[in-house]
Amino acid sequence: MALDRHFQEYFAALDRAGGADRCFLCRRSAAEVKAFFGFGEDGTPIDAEHLGLEDIVLSKLDIMSYRGLRPVCAVCQLNHDALALGGGREIAERLRDEMLERRDHLWPAPETPPAPDEEPEAGRD
Ligand SMILES: [Zn+2]
Repeated sequence: MALDRHFQEYFAALDRAGGADRCFLCRRSAAEVKAFFGFGEDGTPIDAEHLGLEDIVLSKLDIMSYRGLRPVCAVCQLNHDALALGGGREIAERLRDEMLERRDHLWPAPETPPAPDEEPEAGRD
């Protein structure tokens, strides 16, 4: 039965993910992915009347996949599809390496608070 298979896939994926029911890549929960696409937690469109979408319902299986090494969301899948289609896959892999190995190059160093004798002068007038 299909529902039984989905159930087994879901719990096996949660085991692989240490019990975390979130996208491995972006850490979004299923509810957060639904909200990203404009759907409420129950899977119905948030702005259904305005958009004329009252017959569309998103299920958990539409927005999270539990079949791979770890759970992944539809947002990350679309991002990866777009990167592959746009020829950016190699750049994305290099960027990931840069993020891991040259973090200090990408981001400003944390600001250190001014020493007490360097406080800006106040009430000078
Ligand atoms: Zn994701």
